[in-house]
Amino acid sequence: MSISRLAQDIPESPTFALNEEARILRERGEPVINMSIGEPKNKTPITAILSSAAKLSGGEIKYTPPDGIPSLKKAIIRYTEDNYQRVVAPENVIISSGAKQSLFNILYSILNPQDEVIILAPYWVSYPEMVKMVYGIPVIVTPEDGSFHPRMTDIEQATSSYTKAIIVNSPNNPSGAVFSNGFIAEIVEYCERKKIYLIMDDIYHKLVFDGIRWEPAYKFTNQDIENTMVITVNGVAKLYGMTGFRIGWAIANRKLVEVMRNVQGQMTSCASVVLQAAAEGALNGMQSVVENLRLGFENNRNVTVQELRAFNGIRLNRPQGTFYALPDFRAYIPSHLAKDSIELSRLLLKKAMVVTVPGKEFGMEGHLRLSYAGSVKDITEGIERIKWVLDPQSPNENYIGDRK
Ligand code: PMP
Repeated sequence: MSISRLAQDIPESPTFALNEEARILRERGEPVINMSIGEPKNKTPITAILSSAAKLSGGEIKYTPPDGIPSLKKAIIRYTEDNYQRVVAPENVIISSGAKQSLFNILYSILNPQDEVIILAPYWVSYPEMVKMVYGIPVIVTPEDGSFHPRMTDIEQATSSYTKAIIVNSPNNPSGAVFSNGFIAEIVEYCERKKIYLIMDDIYHKLVFDGIRWEPAYKFTNQDIENTMVITVNGVAKLYGMTGFRIGWAIANRKLVEVMRNVQGQMTSCASVVLQAAAEGALNGMQSVVENLRLGFENNRNVTVQELRAFNGIRLNRPQGTFYALPDFRAYIPSHLAKDSIELSRLLLKKAMVVTVPGKEFGMEGHLRLSYAGSVKDITEGIERIKWVLDPQSPNENYIGDRK
């Protein structure tokens, strides 16, 4: 069978693979705790259900314009005005099947083969793969101080004449870091000056803790929407816990949106009208849904931090947003595992039935990503079990579920 070299090199999404492994174990009746999940556990907001149900019962389920239905665009324009203090036109908005497709479509539309995209480690697993899928080159910038906060000097050094874009994700998956407004101001200024696209992946922007005020990148530029290098990406997946609805969007200049519209028109035609109606329901509905999720995650973050702090040798940068933490396990990785987070994650699954995501997948070897989107009970017990496996002081035997 002939498969393209490029496609052959694209690995399976590690988070999907791990979720599948957890599902199979749970079906077998194993007492698995899944700390790898990347989605809130809430029920779909009622306004989203009603709006999509109304669409369905109308029986008019047809193609939409490739860039999305006008009424959802209207809701996105209002969302942008409320949260980004920017008034944009319908021609600046393109709706896609998930923020993932928005990002892919942006990269496809701006990169020529061999163009470079700066990606800040730790990074969401899909960024480098997406860049490679459009024949671009991912250039990874890693903070040397272990802080998860990128430095402008490192970014400047990584820039070349081929640099087309920088992707910034704050609040950050996988670290939970929220980059300082000073950093955002600097990188916006840099990208505007150098004419490098700044792709802001804002998918977690309302999930911030400790009273932090998240500020949109637009705040730090005086360029209008047609001239700014800032492109923003957002969606309903994380904020409303609507991962299964697959609706995301991008805001950019008209020319780029037009190109993306053509690309999408040839690729998927459009996002499903039923799901667009659901997203519209969520955006126009009660926003307390988002705040309730945020409050729950802040509480779970506190529990996670407390449990991990009681775990000697673990280094943790306290997450300030999202529902992830990225503790440094290097002190515990047995030397024969050579700091290998993939092996460590396997060991924890085998011995403690806890699913984690190896830091290597995010460009942070020696770390594990723990999701605290689950219940407090799962978080507490999950970390207890990890501790039992790794801590040399632990007793030899332990109960996992009702099994010794
Ligand atoms: N960006 C980041 C940083 C994410 O974590 C995710 C979801 N894991 C996405 C984008 C994709 O969002 P969607 O489900 O809307 O495609």
